[in-house]
Amino acid sequence: MKYLILIGVVFAVIWWIKLSRPSSRAQRESSDDSPQTMVACAQCGVHLPEQDAVHAGSARYCSQAHRALKEGSV
Ligand SMILES: [Zn+2]
Repeated sequence: MKYLILIGVVFAVIWWIKLSRPSSRAQRESSDDSPQTMVACAQCGVHLPEQDAVHAGSARYCSQAHRALKEGSV
């Protein structure tokens, strides 16, 4: 009976760790499957993943140089 309780506690800890720390492998697989959000540069119109874009308010730029060009021209 003592061992059953111990096994139960071990399984509970393993389950708790799985819940609190999802495996990075699963996250990587899901991020590979999900399509990336593509945005257009407000200066030159080139499309690039949103995570790689330079954010300036609601506008997106392909580079800091284009952000400076656009903001300088306004
Ligand atoms: Zn650009």
